[in-house]
Amino acid sequence: MNPMRNLLLAGSRNAWLQRQATRRRFVKLAVRRFMPGETVDEALVAAAEQNKLGIGVTLTHLGENLNDRAEADQVLAHYLATLARIGRDGVRGEVSIKPTQLAYDIDVAMCTAHTRTLAEAARAHGSRLWIDMEGTDYTEGTLALYREVRRTHSNLGLCLQAYLRRTRADLESLLPLGPAIRVVKGAYAEPQDKAFPDKQEVDENFHWMAERLWSPEARAAGAWATLGTHDHVLIERLEATAARMGVAPSAYEYALLYGIGRAEQLRLVKAGRNVRVLISYGAHWFPWYMRRLAERPANLLFVARSMFAN
Ligand SMILES: Cc1cc2nc3c(=O)[nH]c(=O)nc-3n(C[C@H](O)[C@H](O)[C@H](O)COP(=O)(O)OP(=O)(O)OC[C@H]3O[C@@H](n4cnc5c(N)ncnc54)[C@H](O)[C@@H]3O)c2cc1C
Repeated sequence: MNPMRNLLLAGSRNAWLQRQATRRRFVKLAVRRFMPGETVDEALVAAAEQNKLGIGVTLTHLGENLNDRAEADQVLAHYLATLARIGRDGVRGEVSIKPTQLAYDIDVAMCTAHTRTLAEAARAHGSRLWIDMEGTDYTEGTLALYREVRRTHSNLGLCLQAYLRRTRADLESLLPLGPAIRVVKGAYAEPQDKAFPDKQEVDENFHWMAERLWSPEARAAGAWATLGTHDHVLIERLEATAARMGVAPSAYEYALLYGIGRAEQLRLVKAGRNVRVLISYGAHWFPWYMRRLAERPANLLFVARSMFAN
């Protein structure tokens, strides 16, 4: 495991560092590379720009580990308003939520009710509601949340992380439901008994997950694969596998993060692939941004550059 990655992921949970970083203008400038702004208006402007290029979006309001019911209610109200705007303005967009942003830690029943309300609102606009996958403290609970809301709402999608040893079994158990799954490598600091330490094993697992979602029985059950990666070597391999398995490009999509792998996003659109970018916005960007730095420590250079640009 990369020591710099570990350091940055440990930093993502450090309150002192968060206070320091969020006060600094140069850090905010560096964050702008991955985030169009802190407000939903800025996110929707960026969404319209992406849509013009033929790229769909997923919107996510940053925030996690909320321990206050009133704040969770505000998150619910915010997303309901956002979904209404997506519907009204004809945005090709979806919303993705984190259970802990809906106060999962203090009230699972409320979190479940809010998720169902949001899935209902998304359904009314003909779109899917996604559930992000957080650290392993929440894997079991998030799967249960997904299963519960999925009973009433088939427009619910779930993120599964290829770096987890348990994920193969989790995916197998979900396949009979014909689930919409966003496959990602995984962004949190996890111990080796839970997560594969080597990139090669993670990539292999990612590829295996796509193959399972593309299997005739999964597709017959209605499964959908959203492939969340910027890894162009992996993407090439996935493309070859889709062709070999006779999976049409219209039957799956790629999802990348706003501001990352821009050339790859445009290349995929040009090649006729479904592409979506995940746009994050909001004031609570610190832990999320630290995870982006951990994915590619070279991104620290952008922080340094913005410091000297001031
Ligand atoms: C749409 C989407 C949704 C996601 N949702 C979740 C989630 O719910 N839960 C979760 O744990 N994780 C989530 N992630 C993050 C994911 O787990 C990975 O941490 C992240 O995508 C980096 O992995 P990669 O597949 O791009 O491959 P990597 O092997 O990490 O990277 C491949 C290449 O992509 C480029 N790249 C990757 N990351 C960055 C970066 N931050 N900055 C610049 N270049 C970069 C680099 O060129 C790198 O060489 C999501 C990612 C995406 C794209």
